[in-house]
Amino acid sequence: MYKSSHVRGIIFDMDNTLLRSKINFQMMKKQVADYLIDHDLLPVGFPIQEHTTSTMIEYVKANGMSEESYTEVMHMVVQHELIGMEGAGLESHVSELLKALMTGYVLVIVTNNSYKAAVQALETTGIHPYFDLIIGREQMEAMKPSPSGYLAAKQHFPHILESEWISIGDSWIDGRASVDAGVPFISYGLSGHLMKEKGISPVAHIDSLLKLLDYV
Ligand SMILES: [Mg+2]
Repeated sequence: MYKSSHVRGIIFDMDNTLLRSKINFQMMKKQVADYLIDHDLLPVGFPIQEHTTSTMIEYVKANGMSEESYTEVMHMVVQHELIGMEGAGLESHVSELLKALMTGYVLVIVTNNSYKAAVQALETTGIHPYFDLIIGREQMEAMKPSPSGYLAAKQHFPHILESEWISIGDSWIDGRASVDAGVPFISYGLSGHLMKEKGISPVAHIDSLLKLLDYV
């Protein structure tokens, strides 16, 4: 069983790790993909099923995308986020977990969501005060699977050593970003199937958040 020498900082993904949001990620992705294909920004036959909305947008951005198209696409994303966050609840055992962790650890969220939407959802669900830092997409150079959000978190707490971080998330993009930032990754929930295909080896998998306590 994986055991870090001494964990002092924990980086959480937000959607479907801490919050059970009702963001319709499939519909969001389809709408964005349709727009990008219609505007000849994505080739027909692009392997959409292997992508998330964020990796698709990063792909198009890297190949050159007008400011106008980017704004339009992000507007679609925000609309889905706002609707989905309205009904957000907590994943099971989140409050118990955070209460157990709050005194001994620096707790950080790194989310591809907008900072504003994230803070609003965290306040609504009552868990905002547990966190020492929240990094939304505006605080990172590029969205996950880029490691930039995780690197920003590490830089923000220089007293925590490289080896003292761990992260947890439900998606392969969390795993990719975390591992590339040098942070051991624990996968959570049911959507672990893509991890292997994407070449990500989590140090552990947990299906209940309370099991995280075994690894810190
Ligand atoms: Mg997630």
